Amino acid sequence: MNIRALGCYGSDALLQRTTGPHTCNTCGFLLNGTLLLDAGTVATKLSFNEQKQIRHIILSHLHFDHIKGLPTLADNISEQMSTPIVVAAIPEVIHGLQRHIFNTDVYPDFFSIPTPEQPTLTSSCLKPGHVYSFSGIEVTPILVNHTVPSTGFIVQDRSSAFVYSGDTYSTDELWHEAHRIPHLTAAFIECSFPNSMSELARMSKHLTPALLAQEVRKLDRDDISLYAYHLKPAYKDEIIHELRELHIPGLEVLEEDHTLTI
Ligand SMILES: [Zn+2]
Ligand SMILES: [Zn+2]
Repeated sequence: MNIRALGCYGSDALLQRTTGPHTCNTCGFLLNGTLLLDAGTVATKLSFNEQKQIRHIILSHLHFDHIKGLPTLADNISEQMSTPIVVAAIPEVIHGLQRHIFNTDVYPDFFSIPTPEQPTLTSSCLKPGHVYSFSGIEVTPILVNHTVPSTGFIVQDRSSAFVYSGDTYSTDELWHEAHRIPHLTAAFIECSFPNSMSELARMSKHLTPALLAQEVRKLDRDDISLYAYHLKPAYKDEIIHELRELHIPGLEVLEEDHTLTI
């Protein structure tokens, strides 16, 4: 399975480094070119032709940094698609998109245009714990512990599997389910704030490096790659330093514009 990180941070930012400017973008991951996992960053990283290859979009939750690429993607491809893109998520996310974003005030209702019979987007409500097949990839949404209804995902094909935390604080079911998958090869674990901001992490239900270490222990797999992502760019260096201090085997910080093959 190919995983292309279009964006993998907890916000957008331009960082000035000694090597030059370094952009950070919100989370969007393109799987095998056709399945998009979260839609924070989409169209700014893909050609029109690549945008038109997307057949399914799975969303972890409604927070803006995970959906903000969706309106402009729909706008770009609206007149060019013969079949709608399926947007799949738990009902709270689907209803929130339709009520708060594609409501004709904030943005046109791409769930009913160009025509109600053949819209740009169509929705699919997911039940946590059920297995779905999108673009030949099996996806299982599992509820996690965030400030709004949210899921992580277990994503697998015949040869490989990974677990994606979405945005979460301390959670259990996702790691216990992932632990049991024999061909699990990678885990993507959010890590938003440095340890010094643990109170903000608790209130906003995100992880710090110390909390990430606890979640990794629950996952209890020493044979897979671990990728920390969703770092808040303002604290990137501090978080990376604290993650390195943990000395967790297989743990690295995900960089965007990379394609992983797992
Ligand atoms: Zn987020
Ligand atoms: Zn969130």
